[in-house]
Amino acid sequence: MDACDGPDCNETLKELDLFLDAELSDAARDGIRHHLDGCPDCHSAFDFHAELKQVIHQKCQENEIPADLLSRIERCFDTDFDGDGVIG
Ligand SMILES: [Zn+2]
Repeated sequence: MDACDGPDCNETLKELDLFLDAELSDAARDGIRHHLDGCPDCHSAFDFHAELKQVIHQKCQENEIPADLLSRIERCFDTDFDGDGVIG
């Protein structure tokens, strides 16, 4: 990830999930948005992540994901996609 300069690149990626889940403060979100504007690498990572989460969430509402696959995805993202209160 040499194309991304500065330490806040890793910070940004680390906080993408929180950002997507809207768990960050406004100030933190502004910081990330600012970083994404100037950093193509993080921006594409963010887009990918956001789209993936959306697709998974939708598929899971439609029951199109096998339970064992879903639990693996949930553990991978550390996110409760099907809203059953359990990750995995
Ligand atoms: Zn970056």
